[in-house]
Amino acid sequence: MIITKQKDKKTILDYLKGDKKIFIAGCGECATVCKTGGEEEVLSMKNFLGKYGKIVTGTTVVDVPCHLVKAKKMYQQHKKQIQESDSILAMVCGDGVQTIMDGTKGKKVHPALETLFLGEVQPNGRFVQKCSLCSDCVLDETGSLCPITLCPKGLLNGPCGGAKDGKCEVDKDMDCVWIQIYERLKKLGQLSKMKKIQPTRDNSKRLSPRRLETK
Ligand code: SF4
Ligand code: SF4
Repeated sequence: MIITKQKDKKTILDYLKGDKKIFIAGCGECATVCKTGGEEEVLSMKNFLGKYGKIVTGTTVVDVPCHLVKAKKMYQQHKKQIQESDSILAMVCGDGVQTIMDGTKGKKVHPALETLFLGEVQPNGRFVQKCSLCSDCVLDETGSLCPITLCPKGLLNGPCGGAKDGKCEVDKDMDCVWIQIYERLKKLGQLSKMKKIQPTRDNSKRLSPRRLETK
């Protein structure tokens, strides 16, 4: 899940300075779960902009706004409203903002959200980063716990030695992931994996923009 939070309202109003007519597009997937760009938040944004003299020409929540075909479909369905707008306010992640721009023939699109990380959705509105999208996954060696993400130092070959009472020396509210990895591997009968030296990372795999061709 792509975790987002809403930008502060002053920033959004600054973005919209000079634009009178606005079309608002939300996201039916991640931003709905994060409560940053679902039906409720889009409606609330519409009311907010109305109070500041903006004319909201229309609103929609695109089921998957980071999917180009869906973004193009949204454009066809709301063509008149979008064309008469000065801009689109996109309550979607950064990827979605750009896909909406591509899908609406280059319309001016303002981001309403900060895109934070790829995370696990936990109860009570808690989101925790679990993967840094490194393109070279080591989870099979580490008991399915990611040291690149869950260790603040990103250590790949065991702990730094600074943990105290099981807590990380960088963040004392957090358990040291390398102690957790050790416990997991022990439970799985795979402790020998602790001795395996991970080779130097091939960071060329992380160069942006990454692409994947499947056909
Ligand atoms: S090693 Fe960690 S950052 Fe890399 S792909 Fe696996 S979970 Fe993600
Ligand atoms: S204490 Fe553990 S989690 Fe914290 S930086 Fe050191 S190895 Fe990483």
